Parts: sequence; structure tokens; C-alpha cells
Amino acid sequence: MKILLATNNKHKVNEIKEKILEYGLVVDLLTLSDVSNEKIEIEENGSTLEENALIKAKQCFELFGIPSVADDTGLEVFSLGGLPGVHSARFAGPNSTDAENRKKLLSLLEGRSYEERKARFRTVFCYYDGIVPKFFEGLCNGVIIEEERGENGFGYDSIFLPSGYNITFAQMDLAEKNKISHRSIAVVKFVNFLNEQHGVKK
Ligand code: IMP
Repeated sequence: MKILLATNNKHKVNEIKEKILEYGLVVDLLTLSDVSNEKIEIEENGSTLEENALIKAKQCFELFGIPSVADDTGLEVFSLGGLPGVHSARFAGPNSTDAENRKKLLSLLEGRSYEERKARFRTVFCYYDGIVPKFFEGLCNGVIIEEERGENGFGYDSIFLPSGYNITFAQMDLAEKNKISHRSIAVVKFVNFLNEQHGVKK
């Protein structure tokens, strides 16, 4: 069975592929670069993670005719009413970089207490094969630290300390992050669903 991963983000592709391999899925996991020589840009104009994940999965299924899965992720700081949330990618402005987004969040939280720095990553996976979309959620709680630590990962990883750890996601290697991350929790739910539907575990 073929499944298309609807993302251009190499970090996400690595995390998802690694987890799927760990679960021994017998699927042909394709990425956008496998199915198109041109860069596929999909406008994420939904107002929730669920809407954005659905937009990406549906558009890829419609373009390529392959069952597609898309991930949309947000970092939610509780004291900021869940911001940056669905705006995580463009928190500092329309074309902002990861570094600019982290800087904006750190400056908003400057002088705030540990309690006010509590946050979670939320990932929503949407799988669409032309019938009914299916959603899978993964959560990871933690706290936003005061300055960046670590070189690995991407996005907000260097300022996020997952609960129960004294290193950030960016100080972990891929395998460590994948044991506890929001994305891997969502992937495991997705893998179990695929297995129930199509018997795709080894
Ligand atoms: P999207 O899911 O690609 O739209 O990501 C939204 C924003 O969250 C982007 O700024 C990403 O860099 C960031 N992001 C997504 N997943 C992660 C993660 O696992 N760790 C840190 N930042 C992430």
C-alpha cells in the first residue's frame, strides 16, 4: 500500500519515517519530492490545526490520487491563551523564520514565572483516502525555558523542555525525541488505525 506524506519539512519526514519503521509497517511511504519535481506549496489558511491538516491531506490526495497523511503542529502556551497555536509557523510575521518566532515567544515570556511558561506541543495528523478524513492527535507537555539550548531538531525545539526532562528537544537525538514527542504519539495512533484497516504491520 502506498501512502503520501504531505509535507516538505525534512525534519518531520525523518521523525515520521523513523517511527513508522520502528513499528514495522509494510507500506510504501512516499514524500512530496517522490511524486513531483516541482515544490508543492499548499496554503494553510485554516483556523485550527485540524483544518490545516485536512487541507494538506485532501489537496495531496486530489493532486496525486494516493492516500495522503498530513501533520499540522502548534506550540500552545497556556498563559498566552494557547498562542502561538495554529499561528506557530508565522508567529513573528508572514515570512518569519524559526529563529524569529522563538525570539518573539521568548520576549513575550520575559520575566514570567515557571507556571506561566507551561506549554504543550499539539500535533494533528489527518489521513485522507477520498472517503472520510481521519484525525489523530498527539500531545507533549513541557515548559518554555528562558534561553535557547541545543542544536538538534527544528522550530521551537531549542526552547522547549518536555515534562520530566532537564534537556530540551534540541538537546535530544532523533530517537530520544521520538520516544516522547507529540508527533510520534500521533504517528502511533495512525499506525494502529492503518493496521486495523489494512493489516499493514509485519
Ligand atoms: P507546521 O506543522 O509545519 O505548520 O509547524 C508549525 C510551526 O511549529 C513551525 O514553526 C514549526 O517549525 C513548528 N514545529 C512543528 N513541529 C515542531 C516540533 O516537533 N518541534 C518544534 N517546533 C515544531
